[in-house]
Amino acid sequence: MHMDALDKLATLFARFPGIGPRQAHRFVQFLLRSSPSMRRELADSIRALGATVNQCDACMRYHAGAKGLCALCADPARDASMLAVVSSDADLAALERSGTYRGHYFVLGGTISLASEKAKALRERELLSRAQERASAGLREVILALPANPEGDYTAIHVRDALAALAARHGWKITMLGRGLSTGSELEYADAETLKSALENRR
Ligand SMILES: [Zn+2]
Repeated sequence: MHMDALDKLATLFARFPGIGPRQAHRFVQFLLRSSPSMRRELADSIRALGATVNQCDACMRYHAGAKGLCALCADPARDASMLAVVSSDADLAALERSGTYRGHYFVLGGTISLASEKAKALRERELLSRAQERASAGLREVILALPANPEGDYTAIHVRDALAALAARHGWKITMLGRGLSTGSELEYADAETLKSALENRR
């Protein structure tokens, strides 16, 4: 099947999360009306993602720094006794913005879908090895800071089970955020005060 440039771009946009074919075509129409410099900036930014963005070896988030550790993981002032497991880079950023958490992070890369119960895409193996590595750095507590919705809860139980043997061996406490977060809310959209109370009321 031959695809012209319009269809090709629309097909690519339609692969984005939450974007259907109609919205994808609207994006293409928007770009057609945009200035050449805007289109160039967009294309350059997308190209730069591969060239300048690296994944942190420790927390696995994407960052614009050099290869290896991100600035957070390389910071010796962070509290090595705590490791917060979050679902996404956006949730990590939200906790950071709240200014109430000074420990380390691990980005799981999603939650388990209740429809398919697939845990395949989650970085579970990486979590176990990073947590194990943090044992000698003085890790005492793993905080499951996952979204306050059924998928987040299901993922938390799954991760808790996966960590159980290591936690028992090293004497780690495994906690979850308190329900200062209203049910269904993403960490990403919670305000600093709410995140602070969710952290203080973890159990
Ligand atoms: Zn990192």
